Amino acid sequence: MLALLAMVTTVFFAGLQVSQIGVEATSEKTYTIATDVTFPPFVYADENNEYVGIDISLMKEIAKVEGFKVKIQPVGFNAAIQSVQSGQVDGMIAGMTITNDRKKTFDFSTPYYSSGIVMAVKPNSSVKGLDNLKGKKVAVKTGTSGADYANSIKDKYGFKVVTFDDSDNMYNDVKSGNAVACFEDSAVLSYGIKTGLALKIVTKPTATGNYGFAVKKGANQELLSKFNEGLKKLKANGTYDKIIKQYTGSEAISKQKANATVDETTLSGILKQNKSVLIKGLGQTIYLTIVGVILATIFGVLVGFLGVLPNGFARGLSATIIYIFRGLPLIVLALFIYNGVPNLTGNKIPAFVAGVITLALNEGAYIAAFVKGGIESVDKGQMEAARSLGLPFGKAMRKVILPQGIKLMIPSFVNQFIITLKDTSILSVIGLLELTQTGKIIIARNLQGFTVWGIIAVIYLIIITLLTLLSKIVERRLNR
Ligand code: GLN
Repeated sequence: MLALLAMVTTVFFAGLQVSQIGVEATSEKTYTIATDVTFPPFVYADENNEYVGIDISLMKEIAKVEGFKVKIQPVGFNAAIQSVQSGQVDGMIAGMTITNDRKKTFDFSTPYYSSGIVMAVKPNSSVKGLDNLKGKKVAVKTGTSGADYANSIKDKYGFKVVTFDDSDNMYNDVKSGNAVACFEDSAVLSYGIKTGLALKIVTKPTATGNYGFAVKKGANQELLSKFNEGLKKLKANGTYDKIIKQYTGSEAISKQKANATVDETTLSGILKQNKSVLIKGLGQTIYLTIVGVILATIFGVLVGFLGVLPNGFARGLSATIIYIFRGLPLIVLALFIYNGVPNLTGNKIPAFVAGVITLALNEGAYIAAFVKGGIESVDKGQMEAARSLGLPFGKAMRKVILPQGIKLMIPSFVNQFIITLKDTSILSVIGLLELTQTGKIIIARNLQGFTVWGIIAVIYLIIITLLTLLSKIVERRLNR
């Protein structure tokens, strides 16, 4: 069954693969680099929603002088760490601090920037330093050195740590007063505050950390040396200084500030600015849903049928598959397929493929359960009657049981379609640029969480309403 699913998926993505081979066939090698796009001025999406920042410019310029190509994979910081470790990407650049712990699993380039950790609070906060944190909550970002630092001193100062996946959610927790403070790199916080983030830094930076480009320990060494070589050249020819100035100079800051305050504070401004990426994100959501539903239906119907065969092994297998894939939270399944499996097999799985396999297995298990239930709920006597009239099992199933069973399944199927659409949002954890991930990236730049999440919620509701209407029509047709 799984083999079949894999086969269908492979056929489906044959086209995708062909286009990738096209890229590889050129003389310049393409490396996939994961990054954290919520980390200005190092990495973020600009007002045209293109990835920019010190790290991106460095990477691009280094690729240029060293003769390779880069493909940026915009995931969160923690997700980037995992994709490097699982071999899903070739390296990461994300304002990543070189630490002794990380050196055990990563090889780092020569440092390209330095920044310590500071604590920030609300401008009018009574918290003036670490000593005021007793009994309070402090926000950090998953897997970062800021989080490590907070955890290392939390017992001493008696505070609790709450963890978020990206910087913006961490800041918001402080702004909304849930947490009284957050820990983040000084370069990032001071840039944020200069460009409009309503927080205040109250501590001196900790012993300075150095940022480095990272690859998995022992892997991609040629990429690492190209990075080091390229960095040396950029420092020698002045490009490095130019890049730093481009993003942190006063001109850059006032430009960023202007963008943050003029264009993107009103609903219409945000819509105008982000229309095309939102449409793209929605397109990806719909595409994922459709491919996911098709594969899930194939998988689910097969597993459902297995569950009603007059064969104990088949029924047991079906029940086990349903039990496992319905039981696993979707997010765990997605991370397992995207980050866990490649660790084991050594083969990369494109995020989109990992995403639809996740949907096919999870939604497919639900479909299998109601397909099986639908068939079983047709009165037993019907099968007996058909068989005693001399019809073989298959024919009795096709001609007598299924037509009745399918009618019972239709509402569940429609329901599952809608659930699948909503579930695609979870796939943002593996960096798929669907609607939800698009929202996260927009907010990382304009810090307008309320409006942007409002817009995204309305888009989902509109699509789901359309889908419900459509399915009502189909249902009525089929019932006739
Ligand atoms: N410099 C910090 C670290 O390496 C944070 C990086 C980030 O959040 N992108 O952990």
